[in-house]
Amino acid sequence: MSSQIPIQNRLPKTYPISKVKQETEMVKTITFDVSFGARPGQFVMLWVPGVDEVPMSVALDDGKKLQVTFFAVGDTTRKLAEFKKGDLVGIRGPFGTFYEWSAGDRLALVAGGYGAAPMYFVAKEAVKDGCALDVFVGARSKKHLLYLNEFGKLQKTKVHVSTDDGSAGLKGFNVTLLQQFLAEVSTPRLRTGSTADAVDRVFACGPERMLLAVSELSHYRKIPAQLSLERYMKCGFGLCGNCAVDPLGIRICTDGPVVKNDLLRKITEFGKYHRDSMGQKQKT
Ligand SMILES: Cc1cc2nc3c(=O)[nH]c(=O)nc-3n(C[C@H](O)[C@H](O)[C@H](O)COP(=O)(O)OP(=O)(O)OC[C@H]3O[C@@H](n4cnc5c(N)ncnc54)[C@H](O)[C@@H]3O)c2cc1C
Repeated sequence: MSSQIPIQNRLPKTYPISKVKQETEMVKTITFDVSFGARPGQFVMLWVPGVDEVPMSVALDDGKKLQVTFFAVGDTTRKLAEFKKGDLVGIRGPFGTFYEWSAGDRLALVAGGYGAAPMYFVAKEAVKDGCALDVFVGARSKKHLLYLNEFGKLQKTKVHVSTDDGSAGLKGFNVTLLQQFLAEVSTPRLRTGSTADAVDRVFACGPERMLLAVSELSHYRKIPAQLSLERYMKCGFGLCGNCAVDPLGIRICTDGPVVKNDLLRKITEFGKYHRDSMGQKQKT
């Protein structure tokens, strides 16, 4: 909760970019030689001087460096995409909840778009805990797929790919692949005791339509799921209330972004609408 966030984390401090990597035509990863002690699923507020401050998931925090992977979609992110090594960016955080697993779990990770970045952070850490992973990466087309090489290098990790246009993997959605996969594996061991092939948890990060499908499927299969929900965020630590969701009034910057499926299913606006910077409802 916000009261547990140290005051120094709430204040922006600038750091020089140490590396810029062009991932795809519109996506870049920037690295800072600093650790914020972030956990997989948490986010930071990035301040692009002269433009705005925006929330970004942490793509990696290994105790020495922090990485963020972003789409250049609007004023702030397009400006950030022009930044070079040495340019200063303000960072506050880390904020929000994170994905939780137990050592040795079998995890299904579902990643759409830039959701692949935080999912890679999960995968990297979960493998260290002896987890076995099936990763479902989806994108519009082959050239938009993110983090495939990185996932491919991890131990005990199988990567399943889908693209909307069929240029790589299944032509269709990654949730279809997840559905086929879950139908093949047996009932979760959390519920029934030991079954070697069981999936213990499903984690997802990506577009809300994808999250909705993962939420439904996990609920139907009775597998605990944790999903990362995005809402318009300003302060990042529960003060402004811009990211409060109906009807619970919980703030996604502090009670999320990673939300357990049982709680997510009580958020009636999930999959239907969200609020913009002025608090006006916008159809999802
Ligand atoms: C918890 C969280 C994690 C995110 N992680 C990533 C990430 O890892 N990589 C990435 O590319 N994007 C991420 N986003 C989305 C990112 O914050 C927006 O793409 C970015 O703010 C766009 O800003 P802009 O000024 O470039 O574009 P604008 O033209 O201002 O906005 C484009 C769209 O981005 C969204 N957006 C803008 N400002 C905010 C804001 N303050 N809070 C939430 N959404 C906003 C809105 O949907 C808006 O329609 C994340 C959002 C949240 C809430």
